[in-house]
Amino acid sequence: MMRIALLGATGSIGASTLDVVARHPDRFRITALSAHRNVASLAELCRRFNPEMAVIADPAGADELAQRLRDFAVGSRVMAGPQALIEAAAGAHADCVVAAIVGAAGLESTLAAARAGKRLLLANKESVVMAGSLLKAALAEGGGELLPLDSEHNAVFQCLPGGRPDLARAGVRRIVLTASGGPFRGRRREELAGVTPDMACAHPNWSMGRKISVDSATLMNKGLEVIEAHLLFGAAAADIDVVVHAQSIIHSMVEYVDGSVLAQLGNPDMRTAIAHALAWPERIEAGVAALNLIDIARLDFEVADRATFRCLDLAYQAMAAGGTAPITLNAANEEAVAAFLAGTLPFLAIDRVIADCLERLPAGSVQDLPGLLDSDLTARREAQRIIAGLAA
Ligand code: NAD
Ligand code: MG
Repeated sequence: MMRIALLGATGSIGASTLDVVARHPDRFRITALSAHRNVASLAELCRRFNPEMAVIADPAGADELAQRLRDFAVGSRVMAGPQALIEAAAGAHADCVVAAIVGAAGLESTLAAARAGKRLLLANKESVVMAGSLLKAALAEGGGELLPLDSEHNAVFQCLPGGRPDLARAGVRRIVLTASGGPFRGRRREELAGVTPDMACAHPNWSMGRKISVDSATLMNKGLEVIEAHLLFGAAAADIDVVVHAQSIIHSMVEYVDGSVLAQLGNPDMRTAIAHALAWPERIEAGVAALNLIDIARLDFEVADRATFRCLDLAYQAMAAGGTAPITLNAANEEAVAAFLAGTLPFLAIDRVIADCLERLPAGSVQDLPGLLDSDLTARREAQRIIAGLAA
């Protein structure tokens, strides 16, 4: 029986994870669930899965959560605040941690799970982008295993021999990440001036949380994923390519020196990657419909429009600069996306905020977690100043 702490249970990845888990009550047991503020949803999930621990990240919701659990006669221990997330990630109640919190808010629990040697199922790509080397050190210290949930990285993992080998020795020439192109694929820049948050969040193939949906619309999602691939697999920036594949059937590819290209295909449904990572090295039913190649009939590819979607190049630029630059990129992006979703920043200004932030804050080196968090805060303040300046 694998005991699972699911952080970010009320989100899109959380729901897909619980769907897979519920199909295999003989294999998996949920021992901790967390949410940010959505007390009603978290209480409902606790009623269904009866975890030992229920964590509400915003302490303001703790009393209400406790009351609801009493009403349901559910005995989960209520815990609140960021420290409780760390306990949920590192405690002895779990063998496996699903890191499905969105954004930098997931960083410390991700690191704690790695340090504690858990099987770490990682959806929270922002924590890899911010803290790649610290995360690697934490994994080495804990001796656990990281299995990527991001569909592209899960695909690459599946296409590599033995998961995560030395790429040169394994004969890998390059990693090709596929991108759907998002809801605005094919549009020119001037056509995107007035797009609304709802338009940006209407993804053609995937149903996801609002932050990653906007990232998909700007192509920053692919930019973050290039950095994620660089850090997870040790591939050089020049050996990671992006190709737009609008159908989202091929989730990514690995090209070898002999000319072979291995791809992982499947319907665009996160439950495949989640089931793969939960059961690895075994395979389990995920509830995903079988792929029908005859219905699909063809697979299309095109180059990414880097002139319209500048975030992709900004991510390559931050990866090349290294040090604190990816932290700045991520922080500025989180602030700009939040402002766009709040209606205070136009869509086309998102990349402007990030570019200005990268320019104003020279890349320094990352020593430790406090230093990293300090760089994150500095970048957020700078981004907020830039956003305020653009609004004025
Ligand atoms: P979501 O917005 O649907 O859910 C986010 C979860 O995080 C919720 O449970 C929310 O309560 C929690 N959360 C938000 N802010 C928090 C805070 N400050 N403190 C503690 N908890 C907080 O997001 P999602 O689409 O499920 O994405 C989650 C992560 O997975 C992101 O990093 C995203 O990039 C990544 N990811 C998602 C998908 C997808 O298909 N949705 C695919 C690949 C990667
Ligand atoms: Mg992805």
